[in-house]
Amino acid sequence: MRIVQKFGGSSVADADSIKRVARRVVATKAEGNDVVVVISAMGDTTDELMDLAKQVSPDPRPRELDMLLTAGERISAALLAMAINDLGYDARSFTGSQAGVITTAAHGDARIIDITPGRIKSALEDEDIVIVAGFQGVSQTTKDVTTLGRGASDTTAVALAAALGADYCEIYTDVAGVFTADPRIVPSARRIPQIGYEEMLEMAASGAKVLHLRCVEYARREHVPVHVRSSFSDKPGTWVKDIETKEDSVEQPIISAVAHDRSEAKITIVGVPDVIGNASRIFRAIAAADINVDMIVQNVSTVHDGRTDISFTLPQSAEKEALAALAAIKAEVGFEDVIFNAAIGKVSVIGVGMRTHPGVTARFFEALAAAGVNIDMISTSEIRISVAVASENVDKAVQAAHTAFELDAEDEAIVYAGTGR
Ligand code: ADP
Ligand code: ASP
Ligand code: MG
Repeated sequence: MRIVQKFGGSSVADADSIKRVARRVVATKAEGNDVVVVISAMGDTTDELMDLAKQVSPDPRPRELDMLLTAGERISAALLAMAINDLGYDARSFTGSQAGVITTAAHGDARIIDITPGRIKSALEDEDIVIVAGFQGVSQTTKDVTTLGRGASDTTAVALAAALGADYCEIYTDVAGVFTADPRIVPSARRIPQIGYEEMLEMAASGAKVLHLRCVEYARREHVPVHVRSSFSDKPGTWVKDIETKEDSVEQPIISAVAHDRSEAKITIVGVPDVIGNASRIFRAIAAADINVDMIVQNVSTVHDGRTDISFTLPQSAEKEALAALAAIKAEVGFEDVIFNAAIGKVSVIGVGMRTHPGVTARFFEALAAAGVNIDMISTSEIRISVAVASENVDKAVQAAHTAFELDAEDEAIVYAGTGR
């Protein structure tokens, strides 16, 4: 078989962990498999490099930031290859660029355009274990080194699995699989033995960072089965794969998981003249600044007649760009003020079962009310209901929803390592 194994930062946090991972990789190779390993930077290296950059320069150029950050994965790749070589196996490490990961030029958030894994294939033909630095590639146009976004080593792994025709992709992390909620917040969260791409996609999009969103998109498109599991135990984890529709099954839970996201912020534009075209002007300006908007609410202004307040959520990281874009259209639109609030969080319940079960929204909102959590904004998809709440209420809201949909397990979920950063 051909297997791609990805190890997250917490699995390679120090020298001993790297040796432990080396033993696991070698065991897979010894079973007669072709093994390609995708590796993350050690521990919190990426965050530390980012902090360091900010100390040197308040606003570093994205090109240089990518040069810096890609070094993290390169360090762990080379160290892992050394550890494997010492176990008597041939291993060769490659940067993303050497591995043929071709991307767009968008530093910090580049997309994979193509994979040309010639060097990897020939290393596999030589029976070598291949180690690839995750989260990075090279721009097709500028030839500069790029990064694929935080958490994107998952995406490197699945993209390589697809390009190499691997039988499956293993994602080794610091928890034993995908759970019904983040085990760091809900200790009674339950491991989900298998989950379809569609639900996993909604979970990842709703902040369950156990899998990178684009990794799930890739896996779904290319039909790559993904096994999420712990590098600290041998237990089976969660298979993310094509699942026959279970909608008729009595077993089908209505809600499969609760996810949360603290990375968003809310902007309220106060006193927008309530005339045709103003909402379009506002969101055109936001779109032109390349900002993704999630939830939107428009209310009659409490202060003035003939005016409305428009609120929407956006990534916290887009604060500067969003405020600049709105300032530029203030006179044209004629609104009064803009309020930026980063102290919000999003809590989502996800499940294909909600398609066929009425009353899910009521049950979710009742649970929030009973927990004393006020709902700020709401958005839904066919298989997801999300609310924005004050950030101090996120944990409480997740726990309340988890209990309300009967997802609690008897025993506590284990978090093996990592700082949760
Ligand atoms: P890695 O460094 O291995 O990529 P991440 O920190 O990116 O690990 O992802 C694993 C973390 O995702 C877990 O430690 C957990 O806190 C978090 N997480 C959030 N939601 C879930 C969930 N539903 N199931 C499992 N883990 C989750
Ligand atoms: N090291 C990168 C990050 O922390 C990529 C990854 O771990 O997936 O975002
Ligand atoms: Mg991750």
